[in-house]
Amino acid sequence: MRNTEAQRIRGTEGFLNKTLCFLDGFVVQNVLGSWIGEQLLNKIHANYELALIELTQTLNFTIGYSNMTVQRETDTEPRITDSTAEQLLHDLVAIPSPSHSEGNAVDMLTQWMLEYGYDTAFIDAAGNAVGIIGKGSRDIVLLGHIDTFGGNPPVRREERYLYGRGSVDAKGSLAAFAVGALRANLADDVRLIVIGAVEEEARSSKGARFAATQYQPQMCVIGEPSQWDRITIGYKGRLLLEWEWRGALAHSAGQAATGAELAFAYWQRVQDYTKQTNEGEDRIFGQLDVTLQDINTGQDGAYGWARMTIGFRLPPKKDPYQIASDLQNEENATVTAHGHEVAIVADKNTRLSAAFRGAIRAQGGKPRFVHKTGTSDMNVVAPIWNCPILAYGAGDSALDHTPNEHINLDEYLNAIKVLTSALERL
Ligand SMILES: [Zn+2]
Repeated sequence: MRNTEAQRIRGTEGFLNKTLCFLDGFVVQNVLGSWIGEQLLNKIHANYELALIELTQTLNFTIGYSNMTVQRETDTEPRITDSTAEQLLHDLVAIPSPSHSEGNAVDMLTQWMLEYGYDTAFIDAAGNAVGIIGKGSRDIVLLGHIDTFGGNPPVRREERYLYGRGSVDAKGSLAAFAVGALRANLADDVRLIVIGAVEEEARSSKGARFAATQYQPQMCVIGEPSQWDRITIGYKGRLLLEWEWRGALAHSAGQAATGAELAFAYWQRVQDYTKQTNEGEDRIFGQLDVTLQDINTGQDGAYGWARMTIGFRLPPKKDPYQIASDLQNEENATVTAHGHEVAIVADKNTRLSAAFRGAIRAQGGKPRFVHKTGTSDMNVVAPIWNCPILAYGAGDSALDHTPNEHINLDEYLNAIKVLTSALERL
């Protein structure tokens, strides 16, 4: 039991004849006898939920206050209402913020944080929106991203669905962080840092890389969608190869390979390498995936050229630098590697994960762990912070980057409840 709770319970003993008492997030209507306050205090040290049930029964049946109720405060009067939470998400989605153009959304979110009672909120040197609650020594970082994939499908609300770029990836998760952080009764020793990072969708990951140098948290939650009742603990790694050839054109057919032929020969080499790497590995998360993202060929009469971009998704324990080096040594062509990220698989058995599992169960869900085939800012910060980490957020990630991107607002509100309850368990 946290000290603040005990203190607030003690505080209620001073209001014996008041008709309304607040017990750390619970509202007790009607009269609370002093001896019950004393008893409750003892019971609360043993089991808080049980103590509240017993208190209700005692007041209803022993004393005879039959209209007495004990409820969670958030069920009756949340500090940030659901409609405020929905408005925040709508407003964030309505401000376009593709990577490198996040400024307006960052301004809006930091203003919102100040207005709704964050202890401080500011724009950091990388351009991230940062809000802080609490002054404790234990840092918990909620790292979402405020940039979105490109394109701007119209923002609209249809019944309980909000459509628009970023509604799922990942403003839904970020807005839930912003609201959940305010609703939660945090432990006294916690300092909660909410970050809306820039350039997650860009290869630079500028916002997360900068945040990684600013904090050394004891726990981190990444804001990415995986549905309200699931917890993401794994992301694949990444590598991009740019293959490029330029050469004199042969004067007649058959004398030398064309750029297009050389490109396909290299693509064949990459596919063979991938197949060999995956031998005996049946799990998708355990396999190296490769995509030919782009191919261009052309000629100007005397010279021809060919270019390809090849993208890899790496399973755990595969070194992107090793793969890049294995696929070098192309005669007459250059191969440039970038975007190196190793795969991340976080520990399932942490206090952080237990808090989320408990919170999902408390909302009636069956928590499940997920491994994603893409990358996220978890790939950037996990190797540096080396602390318990997971990703959480409402929405269907299959809608990421699609023209049809939308989020169910009820799921969003549910995720906020889970997040709030998880934060209170930390
Ligand atoms: Zn994302």
